[in-house]
Amino acid sequence: MAGIDGGPRGRIVLFPLPFQGHLSPMLQLADVLHARGLAITIVHTTFNAPDPASHPEFTFVAVPDGMQDAVGAPKDGIGKILSMNAAMEASGCVRDALASILAAEPRPACLVIDTSLPAVQKAASQLGLPTIVLHTGSAAVVRLFRSYAMLHDKGYLPAQEHELNKPVKELPPIRVSDLFDPSKYPNQEMANKILDIATETTTNSSGIVINTFEALEIPELEALREELASSGVNVFAIGPLHKLSTIGDASSLLEQDRSCIEWLDTQAEGTVLYVSFGSVVPVHRDDFNEVAWGLANSGKPFLWVVRHGLIIGSQDTELPDGFEKAVESRGKVVRWAPQQEVLAHHAVGGFWTHNGWNSTLESICEGVPMLCRPLFGDQLANGRYVEDVWQIGTLLAGKLERGKIEQAIAGLMEREDGTTMRERAKELKMKVAMCLKNTGSTQLAADKLVDHMLSL
Ligand code: UDP
Repeated sequence: MAGIDGGPRGRIVLFPLPFQGHLSPMLQLADVLHARGLAITIVHTTFNAPDPASHPEFTFVAVPDGMQDAVGAPKDGIGKILSMNAAMEASGCVRDALASILAAEPRPACLVIDTSLPAVQKAASQLGLPTIVLHTGSAAVVRLFRSYAMLHDKGYLPAQEHELNKPVKELPPIRVSDLFDPSKYPNQEMANKILDIATETTTNSSGIVINTFEALEIPELEALREELASSGVNVFAIGPLHKLSTIGDASSLLEQDRSCIEWLDTQAEGTVLYVSFGSVVPVHRDDFNEVAWGLANSGKPFLWVVRHGLIIGSQDTELPDGFEKAVESRGKVVRWAPQQEVLAHHAVGGFWTHNGWNSTLESICEGVPMLCRPLFGDQLANGRYVEDVWQIGTLLAGKLERGKIEQAIAGLMEREDGTTMRERAKELKMKVAMCLKNTGSTQLAADKLVDHMLSL
């Protein structure tokens, strides 16, 4: 799809947040826009930079982010995001990069930013460049994160121990225990700030793109559109982006161990439990050991991603003594997997996940039911939706303990409730296929998004 002179229909600039779960959807969105005839420039930080060689059709512009050699850089994700914004704003580097892009032809129609990059939005606004915000979470979570003033006003937060099970009646099916509670975060001020930022960038944008699809979140999208109408912010549901785009997982920051696909090829259909807790959040050593023994004692085949840094305060990710012998050919452990391909593999029958939104959506797309162990932030609400709304998984709550894990795995992989969840997951997979058809909601939303961008 080209412009009338055979050239691009316009240029779009995109600025991802440099973490795996945010970088991938942004590059997938870039690919979707490129396929619709737009030239693409990716401006990115030097920290966790994408590999230009994997995307020769895009132009890449790196900006310093103050992270790469900052010895005192905070280790946690929120701290990193805030320091990165502060450093970019102070240096003026983003403004300079955008100014040079604006001076060249074709002049960009707009800039797409991640929700957590207000410094980039400010620089664009100073240059008169409109912004669109990409939300890499669900529509339900966009609403939830915009509701923190209400949650505090109505006394849901700070969460009280005896009220954890209480429903948040304004945001069903969310319960108090599903809320990310800033007062429990080591730096409360930073936690509140990151929530404010998401609201601020959304309200200051001329539209938001959400990595979800209409049939998955009908009431949530409707409510969000109503809530944002007075700010003139358009909502485009153009997910699942990894299915709409053709780049798959070419944006992986870590090398994928493909030996697990060969191993899966040797396993019977629907028998393997895939286990991964995402790219960022670590777990305590005790929990790690319980996971290991829960998997071992379950007697089921499993593929487990044990990435570097998975265990809090530990550089090594050594498996407990005797574990490897106990699981022998039944278990496979890798540092990083080609996850989308793993979930699509016929041998995989369940996914034990931390419910990062990408993982949740990838599981939905392949019709794989989930065992949910959300750890942080939006994962808690995602887990609740999987269990209560879509009913394609169960939450594993409370203290992790090997006997409980063993029972939960049996429930997912062999008992009747697991079979019912599997059937529902297959139905949802069909809905994904529908939204991706030529006249499906996602394709139509992507067309509308391009028209909107070119009209700015
Ligand atoms: N992922 C992967 N290989 C792995 C584990 C994860 O490619 O071994 C990918 C996964 O497919 C997903 C992303 O990493 O796209 C994780 O994003 P998510 O939102 O699920 O969680 P986060 O890492 O942000 O907590």
